[in-house]
Amino acid sequence: MSGSTASDKELIGTGLKKRTEEALANDFLRKAVAFTTDKLKTGKLKASDDFGHWEDWRERGKQIRKHVVDNLDYYLTQFTDNVSKAGGHVHFCQTGDEAVKTFLRIAEERRAKLVAKGKSMVSEEIHLNHHLEERGIEAIETDLGEYILQLAKETPSHLIIPAIHKNKQQIADIFSEEAGESFVPETKILAGYAKQRLRSYFLEADIGLTGCNFGVAESGAITLVSNEGNGRMVSTLPKCHVVIMGMERLVPTYDDLEVVLNLLARSATGQKLTTYTSMITGPRREGELDGPEELHLIVLDNGRSAQLGDPVFQEVLHCIRCAACLNVCPVYRHVGGHTYGSVYSGPIGAVLTPLLQQDMKEAGQLAYASSLCGACYEACPVKIPLHDMLVQLRARKVKLGLTPLAERAAFKTFQTTFGNVTLYRLATKSAYYAMKPFVSKGFITKAPGPGAGWTQSRYLPMKPKRSFRDRWEALQKELKQTRQAEQQEGGHRHV
Ligand code: SF4
Repeated sequence: MSGSTASDKELIGTGLKKRTEEALANDFLRKAVAFTTDKLKTGKLKASDDFGHWEDWRERGKQIRKHVVDNLDYYLTQFTDNVSKAGGHVHFCQTGDEAVKTFLRIAEERRAKLVAKGKSMVSEEIHLNHHLEERGIEAIETDLGEYILQLAKETPSHLIIPAIHKNKQQIADIFSEEAGESFVPETKILAGYAKQRLRSYFLEADIGLTGCNFGVAESGAITLVSNEGNGRMVSTLPKCHVVIMGMERLVPTYDDLEVVLNLLARSATGQKLTTYTSMITGPRREGELDGPEELHLIVLDNGRSAQLGDPVFQEVLHCIRCAACLNVCPVYRHVGGHTYGSVYSGPIGAVLTPLLQQDMKEAGQLAYASSLCGACYEACPVKIPLHDMLVQLRARKVKLGLTPLAERAAFKTFQTTFGNVTLYRLATKSAYYAMKPFVSKGFITKAPGPGAGWTQSRYLPMKPKRSFRDRWEALQKELKQTRQAEQQEGGHRHV
């Protein structure tokens, strides 16, 4: 087993072009993604404006996350010690494999047959459902979006709105097939069906599984935020609650939690606060009426610690998974999340995936799925410079010699030509004649060879016959001659 399967790795880079073409040809998908991301983006702008001093809050958020990640060993020890003191069991797992094995051991020791899951991107990252299914353990997603996708046998295409690419009719079709009766595409009816179906799972599940939005180091509290309340059901009704968290998802204190929760809710959905915020500190204590009998915390590394100390990429661990960078990204908005071929999509996914998988060859291709416009940085509530990181990932790919031979040869030629004045002049002069056979009305509309992709969606303007340098030199010459003529004329007059 591995955190990311071999086939995922093959697909990420190799299939990127094909998936992009398919997504671009899918009008419905593009409109659905653009519609929802527009709404989220507008909501976020309004919420941050209403809040006031947004840039100060962003800076505070950045400093909190930086401080935690700079001192991760200290805060992770403090947090997990406090979880243990509160009666929880802590399991450190270095890889996705280890986390899966740990979860399976917990499940098998309890003869678990049914796992009710709250939303957890980390469980998606390690493909937990697939491994549970192999062992004959049923896992049910209880987040509405995740439940829809589970029935549709799809993966999430957005960090916080997993089924962003589906409309009501499609959801009604999925539910109708599942229920064996026909549903009209109305939110109330569809949500009602899901509620009634999921209720029995909450009550019957042997294990409740959740992620962790933030662990509070000073108390060991596991903080969950959701808008559906399923997190509360999953973490309180089953006898055993298992939490899977990425090792970096910590804040030192409740005061810091207040800052990041404010940033998260506003950046993610434009809300002041997410509808349900739960803080879980240990399993049920004596005399308490509800809560699980056991609490297990799986702390996952899976490539995260490899970024610690890296002057460029450590900052990626500051991410609070709000998805604001997806909502503003012109690439994500056109192609949706599945195109990335990874659980994490959009700008954060394009950076995080190759780093976590430590795979520059396949997953590193995602660094090119960006226009480098920097909108992601502007939107990020903790100021992660994703656009700079994407450039650095591209540089890393080049340094490792992982770019195609033709591309390397092209850049070598470019470097030689632009480093030599004579060659440069020769090249710029001959470019006009090289382009001429492909020009129509001043533009190349269908370039040959590697240029073909470029002209698929835009025209390449024809290079003028005379370069700026030629024209400048001619102008200088002309001016010189005029001045000389004027001087001579002035001289004659004087005589
Ligand atoms: S990189 Fe920033 S904007 Fe993107 S998900 Fe993470 S915190 Fe949100």
